[in-house]
Amino acid sequence: MKSLKFIILVLILGTTNSIQAQDWLIKRSVWGSTDSVNADYEHTIEYITIHHGGEIYPDDKNTLEYLKNLQIWSRNSKNWIDVPYHYIVDRHGKIYEGRPLKYRGDTNTTYDPTGHALIVLLGNFEEQELKQEQINSLKTVTAYLADLKSVPSKKIKTHKDYAETLCPGKKLSAYLETPDWQVFLQTTTEN
Ligand SMILES: [Zn+2]
Repeated sequence: MKSLKFIILVLILGTTNSIQAQDWLIKRSVWGSTDSVNADYEHTIEYITIHHGGEIYPDDKNTLEYLKNLQIWSRNSKNWIDVPYHYIVDRHGKIYEGRPLKYRGDTNTTYDPTGHALIVLLGNFEEQELKQEQINSLKTVTAYLADLKSVPSKKIKTHKDYAETLCPGKKLSAYLETPDWQVFLQTTTEN
């Protein structure tokens, strides 16, 4: 009986702390987001797709300001409903909430992002080093999404798997080929 109570407690706390509470997530309201509402963009997540920001991102850049400006640019210059990505990871591994997950993302390239949960790691990984804090946070978001949407490992890929692009850059691409990431995928997803 004692052990059963313990198991139930672990289930409740484990779920609440790591998955549902998302205490690792910096919400849209914190970076000054305004809402986007558009039923035409609603989709069902089947894939997790990894990107790099594509521009050199200094470690000390203010990501709250960056996201606010990215939202304004996305709406005014691109006519998108919001920032193009669902989750944004800065150089310190901080994870920010982007476009609401229920809305499909946007892209400057030729693939259709419908059904894709889009994660971006800020930086240009053709040139900049990938930081361990970013890898750790990529794992946090990927594990969360794979569990939430039952995404199998074979549907967790990168932008260049779908479109003509260098994204997510050679250094992040190289990391995703390592045993560290492959073992993570195998142990995280149900397949
Ligand atoms: Zn990309």
